[in-house]
Amino acid sequence: MISNVSLYTNNHGKVTIAPLPDGFVIEPTHDSYGRRINYLRISLTDACNLRCVYCMPEDMTFRHRSELMSDEELLYLVKIAASLGVTKIRLTGGEPTIRPGIVELVREIAATPGVKDMAMTTNAVLLDRLARPLAEAGLKRVNISIDTLDAEKFHRITRWGYLDDVWRGIYAAEEAGLTPIKLNAVIVRHFNDGQDMIDLAQLTVENDWEVRFIEMMPFGQVSDFQQTNVVTYAEMKARIEAHFGPLEEASYDYVDPSRPFRIQGAMGTLGFISSVTEPFCQGCGRMRLTADGKLRLCLLRDDEVDLLTPLREGASWNELRALMRDGAYHKPWGHELSAGKFAENRAMNQIGG
Ligand code: SAM
Ligand code: SF4
Repeated sequence: MISNVSLYTNNHGKVTIAPLPDGFVIEPTHDSYGRRINYLRISLTDACNLRCVYCMPEDMTFRHRSELMSDEELLYLVKIAASLGVTKIRLTGGEPTIRPGIVELVREIAATPGVKDMAMTTNAVLLDRLARPLAEAGLKRVNISIDTLDAEKFHRITRWGYLDDVWRGIYAAEEAGLTPIKLNAVIVRHFNDGQDMIDLAQLTVENDWEVRFIEMMPFGQVSDFQQTNVVTYAEMKARIEAHFGPLEEASYDYVDPSRPFRIQGAMGTLGFISSVTEPFCQGCGRMRLTADGKLRLCLLRDDEVDLLTPLREGASWNELRALMRDGAYHKPWGHELSAGKFAENRAMNQIGG
């Protein structure tokens, strides 16, 4: 467990983290629009074992380890977030499963007072061996990225991935109880917007899974490719309905960004994530923590609060807590994609989708 005063070595030499208070009081936090902020998505690393074309360039360079949060720093910031009413954590990246010591880190986060739910977004390549230890450490569910069921296309979209690895990961996750299984597919025009969507949707007929079709979002260095190839939620739904008939609406909590529907008689559901054409700001209580320790207040905007630098410079628990609370209060509403403005400072793997 994290000790009261931590001392560890990184490339800059000895770094001291301010002491944790003996116990902390959990105070719910709201932003200036009255949204309850209770969800933190943490990018554990910007690095990945794949290179999906819509996510990062092939020659992507990653940050040096010394620029990323250590486990102790990350756990300290998680505790501060929990003290501000964050109850739900999602681990993402880059690819979260490639972070060294991932199982122990999951165990520590799960043990944080106030944290009630923890999920992970992963490409599943390493889940074959990690699903069970992660579940035993306290992970509850996984969202798995799979954009096509065509092995050759999968190899091209990920630049070198093998679809069989993902299938093994999906079944390992199911066996380990990391359920309900959610499968994420980013839809790219002229690439996987035809039969691939139908094949993915068909999976829900006989499996109690949720297949979620995601509108591709423009970011940083891959924005040209993304803007010209966005397939809208309306188009995706029309394409599915042309094949399967009208979709039934499934129950919706107005918090999940995915709007759920069901093919008539299917065991599972289909979801659409329309971040570009119909953003879901009203129900958004999310903040993101980038792998280099910046609090990012909206996926599609560059607004960030640096937490790692003050943490390394010896800021106290109360000072860091005030920075996080003020950041949360100023969480923005809406994106400006239709005005041609998109987040430019980072690619998706650095933010954590
Ligand atoms: N590596 C993990 C994975 O692929 O699931 C987690 C990180 S990945 C950045 C998180 C999610 O973001 C994935 O579902 C991925 O498909 C999605 N994503 C990546 N780039 C995107 C983009 N430009 N637009 C929409 N979704 C994107
Ligand atoms: Fe890696 Fe996930 Fe980005 Fe694909 S979407 S390159 S798996 S971080």
